Order: sequence, then C-alpha cells, then structure tokens
Amino acid sequence: MSTQTLNPTPAFSLKDFLSSFALIELFKGMAITGKYMFSRKITVQFPEEKTPLSPRFRGLHALRRYENGEERCIACKLCEAVCPALAITIESDQRTDGTRRTTRYDIDLTKCIFCGFCEESCPVDSIVETHILEYHGEKRGDLYFTKDMLLAVGDRYEPEIAARKAQDAKYR
Ligand code: SF4
Ligand code: SF4
Repeated sequence: MSTQTLNPTPAFSLKDFLSSFALIELFKGMAITGKYMFSRKITVQFPEEKTPLSPRFRGLHALRRYENGEERCIACKLCEAVCPALAITIESDQRTDGTRRTTRYDIDLTKCIFCGFCEESCPVDSIVETHILEYHGEKRGDLYFTKDMLLAVGDRYEPEIAARKAQDAKYR
C-alpha cells in the first residue's frame, strides 16, 4: 500500500504576496481597458449604422422578372432538386402559348439554411438571395414565402439586385 502523503497548504511566496498587495493584476486590467478606450472603434451602433455587405450576401429570397414584366422562372425545378433543406416547393403547368411556368413556388424560410444553392443552380437568374437581412416573422407561417411574396420582393428591390449581380459578375 502507498504511504504517499498529501500537502494541501501551498508554499508561501513573497513575490505573489507583494504582487497581490500592490494590486498588480488590477492595474494590468485597467491598462488594457485604457488602451482600448482610445483606440479605433470596431463596433457600430446598429441599426442606425451598418457594416458593408458583400454583393454575394445571402439574405431574403426574391423571384425576378425580365424588363417586360415576364417572370424569369421557367419551372425547371433545379432549385427545388438542389435544395438540401427541402425548403422549396414548386408546381407548374404549361401555358396556352406553350411556355411552362410555375403555378406554385413556395420557400419555407424556417427550413432554409441560406446556402445559396438555389441561386447558383438557376439557369435564368430567377431565384436570388437579396441583401435584405432585416425581416422577421412573429409566427411560423410568417416565414413561409409564396410565389406572390417572392415576386413582390423581386419587384421592389430589382435595381439593387441587378446592381449586385453586375458587381459580382466578373468573379464568376
Ligand atoms: S438557400 Fe439553400 S436551403 Fe435555402 S432555399 Fe436555397 S437551396 Fe434551399
Ligand atoms: S427559379 Fe430558376 S432553378 Fe428554380 S424552377 Fe425557376 S428557373 Fe428553375
């Protein structure tokens, strides 16, 4: 059986005693506070002040139209197929002129993980993720965006969406 003894009382250190007595740690902390008090601030007063956003920022979704008002979406369903969160639901039909368009295009934003795959997969730049980040829902259904809601976002912010797409185009 081991006869090892335990010594719970730490040895007295004059250096630690003097350091504690002179409040060295307190002054070190105050020196750091003082240093940052006069250095350049990196925080902003949101929402009055905003930080810059990348043209690739992935915020609220929108469906876009062409300049003549026609919906861009051709109901190919690539975005629905690629969505890893199964957040997109599309139903489509053929028009009398032979073109195919969606009759239903819903995105459940409570499922969406804002990966951007839907935007990347779209062959006609129809579904996009805008720079809009200040939106909310007070109940689950408020974040279920229908085709009309997505088209309304696109109609309202088309100039900004087009400008950000143009900014990013040279990197693609
Ligand atoms: S951003 Fe990603 S998760 Fe959200 S709808 Fe598009 S593909 Fe789905
Ligand atoms: S938004 Fe784009 S990818 Fe999705 S169904 Fe319409 S055309 Fe296809």
